[in-house]
Amino acid sequence: MANDKLLDGLSPPGFDERSCLSKYGSVLYRKISSHKPSPFLLSKLRNYENLHKRCGPYTEPYNRTLKILKSGHVGSTTMCKYVVWRPDNGLGNRMVSIASSFLYALLTNRVLLLDHGTDMADLFCEPFPNTSWLLPMDFPLRNQFRNSELRYAHSLGGMLEKDRKNLLMGSTPPYLYLTIKKRDYDLDKEIFYCDKNQALLGKIPWLILLSEQYFAPSFFLIPSFKNEATKLFPEKETVFHHLGRYLFNPSNQVWKQLITRFYDANLANADERIGLQLRVFHANAGQIQTVVDQLLACTLKKKLLPEIDTRNSVASSSNNWTSTKAILITSLYPEFYKNLSNRYLVHPSLTGEVFGVYQPSHEGYQHRGDNKHNMKAWAEIYLLSLCDVLVTSAWSTFGYVAQSLGGLKPWILHKPGHGVYLPCKRATSMEPCFHYPFSYDCKSKNKVDAGSLVPYIRQCEDRELGIKLF
Ligand code: GDP
Repeated sequence: MANDKLLDGLSPPGFDERSCLSKYGSVLYRKISSHKPSPFLLSKLRNYENLHKRCGPYTEPYNRTLKILKSGHVGSTTMCKYVVWRPDNGLGNRMVSIASSFLYALLTNRVLLLDHGTDMADLFCEPFPNTSWLLPMDFPLRNQFRNSELRYAHSLGGMLEKDRKNLLMGSTPPYLYLTIKKRDYDLDKEIFYCDKNQALLGKIPWLILLSEQYFAPSFFLIPSFKNEATKLFPEKETVFHHLGRYLFNPSNQVWKQLITRFYDANLANADERIGLQLRVFHANAGQIQTVVDQLLACTLKKKLLPEIDTRNSVASSSNNWTSTKAILITSLYPEFYKNLSNRYLVHPSLTGEVFGVYQPSHEGYQHRGDNKHNMKAWAEIYLLSLCDVLVTSAWSTFGYVAQSLGGLKPWILHKPGHGVYLPCKRATSMEPCFHYPFSYDCKSKNKVDAGSLVPYIRQCEDRELGIKLF
């Protein structure tokens, strides 16, 4: 199979193409990436696939580790170990935290299983051959997942606080909850990033991880992972670009009904595709108008979109156009589409370019627990990633996923009301931002600025407190 089709070795050969049309079909839609995965990453992925197949749901080792859960006694060191990812927040948040959890699994030889929920069914293909990454419905701890008291009692921070003596004396619990979120469980976060606790975590067969953050950059700072993380990704800004394209292939339903149908009808014939991702947090009419103004200021100033000739109409202008451009808008709201189609479909542009303006959906608000809504969101993230140029919204993981999958450095619209008024700023790398990095030095126990420890991790363009890989 051609190397392009296999994404330079990222995609394993041997999948039944019909079961996941996007896996080998993406090459027809997305430009070939100029960023090549390292040979070490490729060999690590192939080894991981074998591990997952050996230890995946209902295999003999899986059944054996379930017995440990029930007996509470961790003995042998040769068994399979797992990280169970639990969903929280919107789709973009979920995808960046799944990718981070997968990197953790790669670095610790654990098997990643997803507690998918019904609202994520039909979004993705299985990424690993001949096995499944879905946590079985009969997984014994499922009935605890929503019990915050139990979760706390069995959390890393909670156990270390209460049971430090026991843990240090070598009694290993069969499972532990770990929460890496923006708020709550700060102790978990601090402790997770400390090497000595990683050694302790390494012994625990089941880690149940709740996170909505892109915590992948932290592995480039934790001493026990740093060397391997750097070897996996010598080009640091490609972490999500590679892992995201490896893990997240749209299901046939999303691919055929939402992505390729929309792309073929609206975007395929344009000379250039300009993606505008407009996420308005706490939206009201005033906020939306501010973002409309900001968007126009940004796209005109940076010459992403041209001025229009308001004295003429498209209908009366001559046919000597220079090129066609498609503007893809993704937003929960219809106002941006209305504004841009009023400009570019009514009046000719001063540059002679002809525009199409498209918006696949405007859902109005973020629907919780709605699979169809998430399918639309995923299709739109993917469509954005097929664009040539991107404008995204600050603080939005929805935009981060699109930019990293597409290998694009977007123009980021500043969050209204935050800092200096500039309409937008170019991202310096395609990586997502880690919004809530650690701020604690494990040895000195002093506060530390995670953005100043190594040259390839710096403050994000769109969030002062966040860090990202460059
Ligand atoms: P973030 O909140 O911007 O970081 O992104 P998330 O994806 O985590 O959460 C926002 C959620 O709101 C998405 O997952 C969608 O459910 C919904 N949403 C936000 N913007 C859009 C959009 O442009 N299109 C669609 N279809 N849904 C959106």
